[in-house]
Amino acid sequence: MPDLMKGKRGLVMGVANRNSIAWGAAKALAGEGAEIALTYQGDAFGRRVKPLGEEIGAKLLLPCDVEDVTTVDTAFETIRQEWGGLDFVIHAIAFSDKSELKGLYADTSRENFVRTMVISCFSFTEIAKRAAELMNHGGSMLTMTYGGSVRVMPNYNVMGVAKAALEASVRYLAADYGPRNIRVNAVSAGPVRTLAGAGVSDARLMFNYQRHNSPLRRNTTIDQVGGAAIYLMSDLSNGVTGEIHYVDSGYNIMSMPSLEELKK
Ligand code: NAD
Repeated sequence: MPDLMKGKRGLVMGVANRNSIAWGAAKALAGEGAEIALTYQGDAFGRRVKPLGEEIGAKLLLPCDVEDVTTVDTAFETIRQEWGGLDFVIHAIAFSDKSELKGLYADTSRENFVRTMVISCFSFTEIAKRAAELMNHGGSMLTMTYGGSVRVMPNYNVMGVAKAALEASVRYLAADYGPRNIRVNAVSAGPVRTLAGAGVSDARLMFNYQRHNSPLRRNTTIDQVGGAAIYLMSDLSNGVTGEIHYVDSGYNIMSMPSLEELKK
C-alpha cells in the first residue's frame, strides 16, 4: 500500500544519526509520501542530520534543544509560518547522565532525576501542546518508550521511572486531545544499538538477552519501529489512542527466559 502518508506533514524530533530510532520512523514515513521536518540538538548533530534530511527531501531542518524552551517555541513558530499546520509529530528524545545508568536506582541524584524527567518526559508534554495548536484537522503524536517503565531492567534506573511517567503522559494527553481528533500513542521498542542505548551500562548484555529470550528470537530494528510509525501516524490507526504499542519481538509477554537458554 504505497503513499499511505501522502498529503501529510510531520515533525520528527530526535534524529542524531543513521542508527537513531527517529531516523527509522522518518525514513519509513517519507517512503510513504509524508513531508517531513526534522529537528536536531545543537550544531554538531545538525551537521550529521543535514545529509539525512536531504536523503528524504526534508525541507525544514530546525535546531531544538528541549532544555531551552525558546528553541522549542522557535521551531514550532517556523513550522507554523512555513506549513501553517501539522498532521503528526514524533518525539524520540531522552537523556540521563550515563554515570547514573548503572548501579543502584536508589543512588539517583536529585539533579539528574529532574534533568532526566524534563528531557525524557516533560518535553513530550511541552511539544504535544505546541503541536496540538497546529493540528487544526486532527493529528497523531508518538513518543518512544521502553519496557523498563513497567519492569525493572538492570541499570536502566531513573530512565525507567521517566518512561513510566512518559507512558502516563501519553494516556493523559490522549484524553486531553481526543475530543479534537488528535491521537497520542507510544511505541515501546526492544533494545536497539543507538547512541542513547549505549549509555545504559551493560547494554550489550541486555541486547543479547532479549534476542535469545523473546518469542521471535531477534532484536528490534529501527525499520520495525518505522513500520509501526506508519501505522500509528496514518489513518490506518484512527481508532487507536492512549496505547503503548510494543515493538520488541514479543519480549514483554514472557515471564521467564527461554528453556533452550536455561538448559545451556
Ligand atoms: P539516539 O541517541 O539516536 O536518539 C536520542 C535523541 O535524543 C538524540 O537525537 C538526541 O539529540 C536527543 N536529545 C537528547 N537530549 C536532548 C535535548 N535536550 N534536546 C533535544 N534533543 C535531545 O537514541 P535512540 O535510542 O534512537 O533514542 C530515541 C528514543 O527511543 C529515546 O526516547 C529512547 O529512550 C527511546 N528508546 C530507545 C531504545 C534503545 O534501545 N535504543 C529502546 C526503547 C526506547
